[in-house]
Amino acid sequence: MTEVNKGPEAKTDPKPVTGLVDSEIALKLIAEMLAGRIVSIKPQYDFTTELGYIYPAVEQTLNVKAKEAMAIMESLAARNILSKSFFDRLIRCPRCQSVNLRPSAHCPKCGSGHIARGRILEHFACRYIGVEDEFTAKGKYICPRCKMELRTIGADYRSQGVLYKCRDCSEVFNVPFLKWRCLKCSSLVGEDEVGEVIIYAYSFDESKRNWLEFELQPKVRFVEFLKQHGYKVTENAQVKGRSGAEHIVDILATRDDGVVTHTVAIGIEIARDRIGLDRVLDFDVKAYDSGIHDKILVVIPELGEEARKFATYQRIKVLEPKDMEILLAGKAQPGPERVKEPFEFKSRSELMQYLEKQGYKVKENAEVKGRSGALHSIDILATKDEGIITHRIAIGVRKDEKPMGLDRVFDFDDKAYDSGILDKVFVVAPGLTKEAMQFARRQGIKVFEVKEL
Ligand SMILES: [Zn+2]
Ligand SMILES: [Zn+2]
Ligand SMILES: [Zn+2]
Repeated sequence: MTEVNKGPEAKTDPKPVTGLVDSEIALKLIAEMLAGRIVSIKPQYDFTTELGYIYPAVEQTLNVKAKEAMAIMESLAARNILSKSFFDRLIRCPRCQSVNLRPSAHCPKCGSGHIARGRILEHFACRYIGVEDEFTAKGKYICPRCKMELRTIGADYRSQGVLYKCRDCSEVFNVPFLKWRCLKCSSLVGEDEVGEVIIYAYSFDESKRNWLEFELQPKVRFVEFLKQHGYKVTENAQVKGRSGAEHIVDILATRDDGVVTHTVAIGIEIARDRIGLDRVLDFDVKAYDSGIHDKILVVIPELGEEARKFATYQRIKVLEPKDMEILLAGKAQPGPERVKEPFEFKSRSELMQYLEKQGYKVKENAEVKGRSGALHSIDILATKDEGIITHRIAIGVRKDEKPMGLDRVFDFDDKAYDSGILDKVFVVAPGLTKEAMQFARRQGIKVFEVKEL
């Protein structure tokens, strides 16, 4: 016996999906924001701390230091859960990393910080130039150099306006040279030497509320539910479509029953308002191209009218929040036994027993009315209702002297198609011709070739 066909190929996303956030603390922050207890997060200056600013609400709620609070908010901003906006630009001392710096004005000629600012007077007689203060004595203007009195502006002296004068080198200048004095380590650093720190305010992005509320609660439980039903679950699975396109399926659940590998594509559509037809159409096209016929669409808050009709027509199982609640509230059935060994059987009854052990209801020579109105007899019909999805497998059993041709596969496929059954298993003794096998593979029929039945 050889297993010939395989389900659609699924590759796991290269970066492991660890859920929404990687820490309990970040989850707590999200919960606080969803509850409206923390809305916008603004920094406050506090030069006594290492960073020089703090986020008091976040630090208190999460019981962390500013550095950790910032790391959490940054990671949430990177996932678009928080929006971040410029708050201030701080400069940082290159020696001690403090952001507590004070500007300091210096003489552009000699670099001295010993400068004075004021009205600058020039005494014509001796050419002395100085700040007004230097000339005042006993209610008069006396030149500090030649000790003459300055009486008439324009004749004895003139004013150059308000400027700076260096007390060390006497340079008079308009714009001082700016340096920064660190108030922590007292270093004096030039403008080009200081580091810069941009600090941000963060706020909760309300448009993400529905999505977050789903991600935090039901999604985790839903994934757990699938696992309890024996599914292997891959979030954000990359699936290569028949068209060659790469699709991302929100949740891909696969389970190998031994007889059939069930592949369920689960799409998640979350919006503030109703989900429209276009989103359902996109999901359906993606699933179709990926060769997946078990389709579940999780929608929050709900589907629009047209979209709902289309979903029903395309056999997409829709889970709205209330359906999800009911589904998850139900007691989890113990999952079927894991198939460890490659499945083998020697007789028809053994195959049926095996299916029953897997939780299927099995019926031999089942009569199914097709869409065409014709009545079909299915050799073995296996049905299993899992709550979210009902699996129906049509099993055809054929025996002949030599490998069977295309017509036999075609007949079986046609019957299953008309009956609306998409999981197809064909058990053939002794086998199929190459051409028939190719056709079966293309039609998604799982073929078991057995020596005898
Ligand atoms: Zn003078
Ligand atoms: Zn100077
Ligand atoms: Zn410093």
